[in-house]
Amino acid sequence: MKKITILGSSGSIGTSTLSIIRLYPNLFKVVALVANKNVTKVLEQCKIFSPEWVAMYHEKSANSLSEKLRIKKIKTRVLFGAQAICQLASLSEIDQVVCAISGVAGLLPTLSAIRAGKTILLANKESLITCGHLFMKELSFSKARILPIDSEHNAVFQLLPLDIQKNLGIVNLKKSFIKNIILTASGGPFYNFSISQLKNVTPIQACSHPNWSMGKKISVDSATMMNKGLEYVEARWLFHASESEIKILIHPQSVVHAMIEYYDGSISAQLSIPNIKIFISYAMFWPHRLRLKSDFFNYLKNNNLSFFEPNFTKFPCLKLTIDTFSEGQSAMTVLNAANEIAVSAFLNRKISFDKIYNVNLETLMSSCFSEPNSIEDVLEIDRMARILAMKKVLSFSF
Ligand code: NDP
Repeated sequence: MKKITILGSSGSIGTSTLSIIRLYPNLFKVVALVANKNVTKVLEQCKIFSPEWVAMYHEKSANSLSEKLRIKKIKTRVLFGAQAICQLASLSEIDQVVCAISGVAGLLPTLSAIRAGKTILLANKESLITCGHLFMKELSFSKARILPIDSEHNAVFQLLPLDIQKNLGIVNLKKSFIKNIILTASGGPFYNFSISQLKNVTPIQACSHPNWSMGKKISVDSATMMNKGLEYVEARWLFHASESEIKILIHPQSVVHAMIEYYDGSISAQLSIPNIKIFISYAMFWPHRLRLKSDFFNYLKNNNLSFFEPNFTKFPCLKLTIDTFSEGQSAMTVLNAANEIAVSAFLNRKISFDKIYNVNLETLMSSCFSEPNSIEDVLEIDRMARILAMKKVLSFSF
């Protein structure tokens, strides 16, 4: 039986993970849950999974949950704060940690799990975007292993030979005769919009992804295609890939999630319906597979799979992210922070959709930080970049 801590249990990835565990109570045991402040959701999860531990980031939420658990006679022990979260990510009895806290709040718990040598099921994008260099170095000293949950990276992982799967981030792709990795992108809800139409789109439109059901931030990132840029960065670190080894293709049907092209001209592809549980379950039970209550892809009905080059003029955030990767880790941290502020401003109707790019670009251009040597350095760059980005938002607001 695999013993698991779920960081971000109340979120979209966390709840999907728990729904898989519910199907297989003999294979997985939830030891600890972590969330920010969603007491109602975590209480419900404690009733079903009886974890030994819960940590809420906010003290008030922890106290409220503790009281509710006492009334229900549930014996789960409740902690609070960042340090407690790191403790639950590194408990000696656990095998796996699902890292699905959103944002930079996920960095320290992920590092804690790496240092404790756990198997990390990684969803938190910021871990590799802002700390790819630092985390890969830490991984090389530890017996920890990273298994990606994000659909495209998990699809690549599924396609890779076992020796690369076991040495992710270290092995040279060329040694396995791999020419390049192709990440697909649906193109988001605005793929067919003109540049002038993009100026007037609303948060509701931006959050209506044609194929995937996700949170608001990642949905807006899909609409600007920033998300694919961030995935490009993650892929560079995860698969130890050079610039020319990662390609991005628009594939509006979201059926082919990734492909690997070999030097002999062969291409392997991973296909499935767009259901995140397929990817989470693969990471949870790797190197084996679990039977899921999932719909299957009907290849007779859906026989029009198409692929296009991305349009960098219409989706400049994608190009900006790809270019920023070569500038270094501090530039990537600045861009990531600026984008979070810009997306939030767009969702709160302070700036228009097209100004997300302007906030990102201008924040990058007006910042200059030295390369980080620690997570504390990354968090400081993140903090300063947010202040800068907020000023840029003001200059672009309606
Ligand atoms: P959600 O916003 O749905 O959930 C975020 C989770 O993190 C919640 O449980 C939230 O708790 C918790 N959280 C937020 N801040 C803190 C904090 N300071 N301390 C402890 N817990 C915290 O996000 P998703 O599940 O959609 O995504 C999680 C991560 O995975 C993100 O980095 C995202 O980019 C990535 N990802 C998501 C995919 C998806 O399909 N959703 C696909 C690929 C990657 P609370 O509910 O109490 O606020």
